[in-house]
Amino acid sequence: MQVNKSNKLANVCYDIRGPVLKHAKRLEEEGHRILKLNIGNPAPFGFEAPEEILQDVIRNLPTAQGYSDSKGLFSARKAVMQYYQQKKVEGVTIEDIYLGNGVSELIVMALQALINNGDEVLIPAPDYPLWTASVSLSGGKPVHYLCDEQSNWYPDIEDMRGKITGNTRAIVLINPNNPTGAVYPKEVLEQIIELARQHNLVLFSDEIYDKILYDDAEHISTASLAPDVLCLTFNGLSKSYRVAGFRSGWVAISGPKHKAKSYIEGLDILASMRLCANVPSQHAIQTALGGYQSINDLVLPGGRLLEQRNRAWELLNDIPGVSCIKPMGALYAFPRIDPKVCPIHNDEKFALDLLLSEKLLIVQGTAFNWPWPDHFRVVTLPRLDDLEMAIGRIGGFLRNYSQ
Ligand code: PLP
Repeated sequence: MQVNKSNKLANVCYDIRGPVLKHAKRLEEEGHRILKLNIGNPAPFGFEAPEEILQDVIRNLPTAQGYSDSKGLFSARKAVMQYYQQKKVEGVTIEDIYLGNGVSELIVMALQALINNGDEVLIPAPDYPLWTASVSLSGGKPVHYLCDEQSNWYPDIEDMRGKITGNTRAIVLINPNNPTGAVYPKEVLEQIIELARQHNLVLFSDEIYDKILYDDAEHISTASLAPDVLCLTFNGLSKSYRVAGFRSGWVAISGPKHKAKSYIEGLDILASMRLCANVPSQHAIQTALGGYQSINDLVLPGGRLLEQRNRAWELLNDIPGVSCIKPMGALYAFPRIDPKVCPIHNDEKFALDLLLSEKLLIVQGTAFNWPWPDHFRVVTLPRLDDLEMAIGRIGGFLRNYSQ
């Protein structure tokens, strides 16, 4: 007899690490070198964590053997609290901060604690698909609002408004956005906040790329504009401090917490059930937030991340039939393949065909809950020569590709 997965997982998928990746692993086992443009993991591309963070974790290791408080170490949460003071978010106390094993764990917890069967959550399309998967896992219904490529990939407010129903509980924002690289201006944030205010919705603001900004982009924390709306702001060390493997993140609650006592009790229960986040990594938070912000050296003129973003964007736009909005933040580009030039009906097949032919791994747009098979995502993490080789191969492949 077969052992089946639970019904809870019926609509849960996370295709960034889906079937195409399995093929890539097989090819690697056969001895092929695969150019991997699929995952936003800085370390394998030679981005090292600030030395002071590593030293601090090493120094604290002997005292990090026990469990911590379920919400996390006081010193780390205090540093997070001060961070939100800097970001002009009002009223975040140490008690409003929960540390987690990456933002990933906290996203799942925040939704499990809120969602009843059939509740709806507004999520961007395209999205970082953990959000959609976590809503489904919680028994909720992910409802995708469109982000508009013609308007710098900003959320389409009218589409969002039209999708609010009596069952809607929350709006998810990912800013700076994965996969599009959009960074939202104040006016866009204010319109979304106004919808949350009118309809009594919780705002989940995923700001994990808030320090990875290009050109003159400025990041505004949603919560700083919404002192009267319940906001959960997510962030962590994986990207800005290049320690994705440490699994260190946090969520900060702001707004009218007195109206969310039961929800907060739910969060406390879930935080206690997983005992605590990895303690050695919690020791990295205070040093990271208070130390030298070396991420700035990577995104300012002459910085490696900025140069790679520039080159990737130029080269993608040079491919006939491909167009790409300039990413203003994060670590990705999300180009469009014009269906008139190269019609693609199944973009997972496209990703697989590209892998088999060019030994190059990208992620198809539909993995990000984009409704049409006409986009893909690349990470802008590889060094210039690898990026040039990879995007050159995509161009060559598309020239002769048809489905
Ligand atoms: N949110 C977004 C938008 C991401 O892109 C990622 C990772 O790629 C995460 C959350 C998860 O991050 P963490 O490593 O903190 O679990």
